[in-house]
Amino acid sequence: MIDVKLPETGNPKPPARVPYKRIATEEAFAPPEMLDIYRRICERGDCDAGFKGLMGFYMTSPSERAQHIMRCLIDMDDLRLQHMDEAGIDVAVMALTSPGVQVMDTPTAVSFARTANDFLAAAIRRHPTRFAGMLAVAPQDPAAAAREIERGVRELGIHAVVINSHTNGEYLSDPKFWDIFAAAEAMDAPIYLHPNSLPAGMYEPFAAAGLDGAIYGFAVETGLHALRIITAGVFDRFPRLQMILGHMGEALPYWAYRLDYMHGATVRSKRYESVKPLRQRPSDYLRQNFTITNSGVAWPHAIKFAQGFMGMDRVMYAMDYPYQYAPDEVNILDGMDLSLENKTKFFQTNAERVFKLR
Ligand code: CA
Repeated sequence: MIDVKLPETGNPKPPARVPYKRIATEEAFAPPEMLDIYRRICERGDCDAGFKGLMGFYMTSPSERAQHIMRCLIDMDDLRLQHMDEAGIDVAVMALTSPGVQVMDTPTAVSFARTANDFLAAAIRRHPTRFAGMLAVAPQDPAAAAREIERGVRELGIHAVVINSHTNGEYLSDPKFWDIFAAAEAMDAPIYLHPNSLPAGMYEPFAAAGLDGAIYGFAVETGLHALRIITAGVFDRFPRLQMILGHMGEALPYWAYRLDYMHGATVRSKRYESVKPLRQRPSDYLRQNFTITNSGVAWPHAIKFAQGFMGMDRVMYAMDYPYQYAPDEVNILDGMDLSLENKTKFFQTNAERVFKLR
């Protein structure tokens, strides 16, 4: 029987020295000025319920967890490096914390994406062997987002992009956003589709049970977004585009059989105008156009299933700092029943390839 074993809380054992680098690929940060913008948004009468329920909570709660997370998010030097050292993390690949600029009005979002990317690039220059990152963009203005991807790759040397799922309830499956995919494909920059708080139409049934956040709602909404991108034919139009999904691929590898079966059946039934034939099966795009990370899931059984489905080259390590800072999870993953070659792919070389780390 496969059981779930969570790490003990309390005093974690320091991770052992290992013959591979540990690169954590979904680590969050926030420039302090972004929190001021967020506070102003939260104070508005029309503030989105999902955003207010999530970032509004973290920014105002006196709980130890919330205060600790806010402290860690804005630190790009000693505290972050200390936590990385204590957890045995050699390199953190950082992304502007969700929802990034996607909750801001369009001019602020476009301008703050540049500010955040310059802030990140400065931190990488201070700690070039420890930090790497992803570019924030404002999908609210797809042409500006495309330009920022080009600037970020060429001028800042950052070779990946983060998009926090929906933007004001809109999905990248809409062709109006496809300048972003064209730029990402042309610049060979993978897009990490990271969760956002749930859009207005999904929020209530999840929030009523406290299930809207990382516990479950994020995975449902981000998985839906990835599937919408696949079924809209984005990868037939942009075959070299690469995306990244966290949280074990938001469970999509586990769904692959039913996705293929029911997508084929739905196409044949002509039930929906929006469901058109694709060149390949949904599961083929998952394996050719996505890499997944285990962020938030230090469970060897799930990781091994995903490696079997995606291939050893398409599953990467992530911690999800500071939201899930659990050094003992590193010990669990070091102890996975995998060859040294495959453990090195998981912790190090897949991330070096995907994020073009030197
Ligand atoms: Ca995260």
